[in-house]
Amino acid sequence: MPPRIDLRSDTVTQPTPAMREAMARARVGDDVFGEDPTVHELEALAASIFGKEAGLFVTSGTQGNLVSLLAHCNRGEEVIMGHDSHTYNYEQMGAATLGGIAPRIVPNQPDGTLRLEDIEAAIMPDDPHFAVTRLISLENTHNRCRGAYLTPAYTRAVADLAHRHGLKLHIDGARIFNAAVAQNVDVQELTGDADSVTFCLSKGLSAPVGSVVVGSRDFIARARRMRKVLGGGMRQAGVIAAAGIIALTEMVDRLAEDHANARRLADGLARLPGIEPEPVYTNIVYFRVRHPRYTAATLQEALLARGVGVLALGPDRIRAVTHYGIETSHIEETLDIFEMLL
Ligand SMILES: *Cc1c(COP(=O)(O)O)cnc(C)c1O
Repeated sequence: MPPRIDLRSDTVTQPTPAMREAMARARVGDDVFGEDPTVHELEALAASIFGKEAGLFVTSGTQGNLVSLLAHCNRGEEVIMGHDSHTYNYEQMGAATLGGIAPRIVPNQPDGTLRLEDIEAAIMPDDPHFAVTRLISLENTHNRCRGAYLTPAYTRAVADLAHRHGLKLHIDGARIFNAAVAQNVDVQELTGDADSVTFCLSKGLSAPVGSVVVGSRDFIARARRMRKVLGGGMRQAGVIAAAGIIALTEMVDRLAEDHANARRLADGLARLPGIEPEPVYTNIVYFRVRHPRYTAATLQEALLARGVGVLALGPDRIRAVTHYGIETSHIEETLDIFEMLL
């Protein structure tokens, strides 16, 4: 049984009633034959929202990043990414395992950025001693960097740097709509200069399954081949794509509520003894546990016993994520439970 107030992740969101209805009614066909009209609709909608030529419905954010790296890079080539990036830490480095693609790691700054000088220094010169650098991968919002967002100006600067050196830019935009809503900008301002973007339908946007990759027609054609070899060719996938269409049309603007609730949670935690919240940017709240009676693990356990789910991600660090289904009243109740425990 999941906790009653589940702040472990925004992946726990349940499909909305409108999604359930759209799923039941969806027109479907064999998508490996290119015959699922609902998948086509979702891919075209995603491409138009991002101002790209084409889209590809994939099973997960992990698969979206993997097909993107495989479509951009040949074996033996390198991708520059941050040491704290999701792709480096939480995706079994599939591009290396399955594609012979090596990560070249540069340090993430606390705000999720990579310094331009560090990126530039990580690009290998054209010399037979070195692997060929092919790609830069950014993450927006940045999961391990407290849900921090990258700005349009920063993204443009990295894209310019990449293109000046003949590299491509991929954005792991699992939560790119959180980044857009938090800055009150169109998502294209955050992705227009990138060569490919992956974003998740199944996190804050509340769809049950799936992510989408967008990019040029040629890139998406290569990514589609990679999806198939990974076993990601789905048949009557319109049943789940239908929920993704609702995610994109009805669930983006409300992310602002999640950001307000995250702030409310952090503000409340800051008033409690032995709890030190870190800065909050979007829907992710990290806090340190510096309490005589609790470690992160034992506080997680005590909260769980009272129906509140959080994730201990280190000996003294906990993460809580707000999302659809978490109301302001849940935040207040959570703070009451914290107060009682501490
Ligand atoms: C969740 C996440 C992913 C992977 O998505 P899954 O659908 O869980 O595979 C990739 N990147 C970031 C930044 C994420 O937060």
